[in-house]
Amino acid sequence: MSNCLFCEIAAGRIKAEIVHEDDAFIAFRDISPKAPSHVLVIPRRHFDGLNDLVGPDSGAVDGLLAAGVMAAHAEGLAPGGYRFVINCGDDGGQSVGHLHLHVLGGRPLAWPPG
Ligand code: 5GP
Ligand code: ZN
Repeated sequence: MSNCLFCEIAAGRIKAEIVHEDDAFIAFRDISPKAPSHVLVIPRRHFDGLNDLVGPDSGAVDGLLAAGVMAAHAEGLAPGGYRFVINCGDDGGQSVGHLHLHVLGGRPLAWPPG
């Protein structure tokens, strides 16, 4: 999709520090990390966000979560634990309109979120 930052990263036209990638998903470091380890996992295919995952596309989240688990292992987060976050829409705090999973870890994370 044109004018989408994460589509541009997926296409390699905008640089990112890639942690892991396959034919369907890419994991790369967040440019403004909120934890010692902060990786974003995106599908190569553009979805605006979670609200797009209905009907035949509802299964897209399965691969996204599996790719997030792989990123957590690759970051060495599995033993200590970590958190997945998917912000959705304005109230959810989503700032980039391409579906993405945050994988956060490397320190104790407070709950509840703000
Ligand atoms: P959201 O707020 O939509 O849930 O998360 C978007 C995330 O993308 C933010 O954590 C932000 O720091 C990150 N981000 C924004 N622009 C860039 C960029 O150009 N490169 C990378 N690697 N991360 C970005
Ligand atoms: Zn996109």
